[in-house]
Amino acid sequence: MQKTFWRCHVCNDIHYGLRPPEVCPTCGAKNAFARCDPAEVGKVQQPTEAIDTEEKVIQVWKEFAASNPICRLAEDENEVRMLAGGVLENMRNRGLKYCPCRITSGNLEKDLLLICPCNFVRQKNWTELGECWCGLFKKKED
Ligand code: SF4
Ligand SMILES: [Zn+2]
Repeated sequence: MQKTFWRCHVCNDIHYGLRPPEVCPTCGAKNAFARCDPAEVGKVQQPTEAIDTEEKVIQVWKEFAASNPICRLAEDENEVRMLAGGVLENMRNRGLKYCPCRITSGNLEKDLLLICPCNFVRQKNWTELGECWCGLFKKKED
């Protein structure tokens, strides 16, 4: 099975994945997704604001941490800002917002796993030290 695009036939939400969502997260319609031709996707989607400044990157990280029950953003603002700068530099030089602390391999499939935020709960640093490799996200204390 291959991931593909799905379009909500009520509100034109686009979803990418093996299966469509049962409930459309935008309009709430049930079983509303039909497979979508990739050529249609670009036309159906509305352009959204680019995440191209440190402030915007940090805002995305804050929203991510706020909606995630297990992590929080590091409290050191200078450190967070530096990492946001690193992510944007990777965007400029290598095309995607790759992890500022790791080297891309040139193998796109592997490198896609390095887009920030990555799946850091799989890292040894997360299980042993309670933070992602760069210390950007930390385990929430309970
Ligand atoms: S290790 Fe941390 S900073 Fe690096 S990509 Fe993952 S979440 Fe982002
Ligand atoms: Zn919808």
